[in-house]
Amino acid sequence: MHPAAEIARMHHLLQTQKQAGLAHGIPRAEERIAWLNRLIGLLVDNQEEIVTAISHDFGSRTRELTLAADILGSISELKFARDNLTRWMHPEPHTGIFPDAEARVEHVPLGVVGMLSPWNFPINLTFAPLAGIVAAGNRCIIKPSELTPATSALIARLIGAAFNESEIAVILGGPDIAAAFSTLAFDHLLYTGSTAVGRHVMRAAAANLVPLTLELGGKSPVIVSQCAPLEDAAARIMTIKTLNAGQICLAPDYVLIPAHSLERFITAAVTSTSAMFPTLTANPGYTAIINARHHARLQSYLADATARGARLVEINPANEDFSTQNIHRLPPTLVIQPPEDCKIMQEEIFGPLLPVLTYNHIDEAIAFVNQRDRPLALYYFGQDSAEEHQVLSRTISGGVTVNDCMTHAFSETLPFGGVGASGMGAYHGQAGFRTFSHARPVYRQSKAMEAEYALRPPYGEPMRQYLATMISR
Ligand code: NAD
Repeated sequence: MHPAAEIARMHHLLQTQKQAGLAHGIPRAEERIAWLNRLIGLLVDNQEEIVTAISHDFGSRTRELTLAADILGSISELKFARDNLTRWMHPEPHTGIFPDAEARVEHVPLGVVGMLSPWNFPINLTFAPLAGIVAAGNRCIIKPSELTPATSALIARLIGAAFNESEIAVILGGPDIAAAFSTLAFDHLLYTGSTAVGRHVMRAAAANLVPLTLELGGKSPVIVSQCAPLEDAAARIMTIKTLNAGQICLAPDYVLIPAHSLERFITAAVTSTSAMFPTLTANPGYTAIINARHHARLQSYLADATARGARLVEINPANEDFSTQNIHRLPPTLVIQPPEDCKIMQEEIFGPLLPVLTYNHIDEAIAFVNQRDRPLALYYFGQDSAEEHQVLSRTISGGVTVNDCMTHAFSETLPFGGVGASGMGAYHGQAGFRTFSHARPVYRQSKAMEAEYALRPPYGEPMRQYLATMISR
């Protein structure tokens, strides 16, 4: 569709959905459950087509990763919302100021939620938020990423077949369409993507005072303690660093390791990565980089780090030639002791490159983390509970996993979100329901006459006595 026509369509959709929501009234639990079941059915029935589309968009991505992270990850969130929303919707009873008054908080829908979703887990990062959006009784317009065109077109077709566009609709297009989308007067806007674009989105949303949830990125650090079992820590770090070839918002971005453990850590990281990926260039289990631009960006980080004196340890067990491939795979590479002004220490990496830096005392590691923006996640490996407490209490991050990476994001009962430059607001489970609801207080006035007497002039002795009694320490 021509961009101008798509922009006109998004304005029309927003009005259609707003009017449909008000005309229909707050959806009952059964209606929300029916929508969630439709979303679950859509993913179950079309899983193979989704696997093929994502693999096509990446050039290569393993079927199991898409089934686990995109399909199962979404279905788990949708089912958890389906099975709990009746309880979440229950009004909270509160006490009124007069004995026979009634007070409650109702979690009501916000209205129409706009969603800008990214390419790295294009199904999960669209359907997992939909769990909270639909459970809370909203309608939704989605703009998926232009970097995964086959998957985004498939999302549009599947949602279009399962929902009327007055319920859930999809808009397709690139940055110009996304920029226009972020200026719409939604009742809430969810943006998942980079911190840099998040600033544009927040600026655009401010014009209409649209409340925002920003799920952004950043440099998530790993602190490995003196007392950590090093081989196990290295294997766990490299498992998540190579998952989706590091194209994960929660990927460990850099590692801080005790100076005397550096060479042992490098050996352990190389050994564990080589065991997972004995070959790389034709290995369907090793995801390619999404496109040539991101591939070139990552290679520029390596060139810049080398030029500034960092040592590279490329993990390429079969010594393969990466220069002749027609997709964009990049070998996992450790970047040892890059100077702080390197691009790789300034930008979020979002690829299979891992800077390894050393410290002599835990205070140095904590200070290093705190000199940077607040990260989406912080990872601590160690068995020393006093040191763990010290690290957690003197740093701020969106979430924490101790003795592994990323696992905190897999729990449906934990809120998921960033803090500071890594985002604002949270979803997953009940946190998503709350984020996409308005907590509306409802008060039914007392029938007692005192209520009226007390508030109306002329004020008499009862009012003066009441105030004198209540205004006290
Ligand atoms: P991106 O910010 O580069 O692009 C995201 C989308 O923003 C694009 O699809 C584009 O259409 C849109 N866009 C571009 N310019 C815009 C503008 N001016 N106004 C509004 N929208 C605009 O991010 P990406 O490359 O898709 O994803 C990678 C980033 O996303 C990383 O930083 C990663 O950490 C982050 N991320 C965060 C989470 C999370 O849950 N916190 C999850 C996945 C990815």
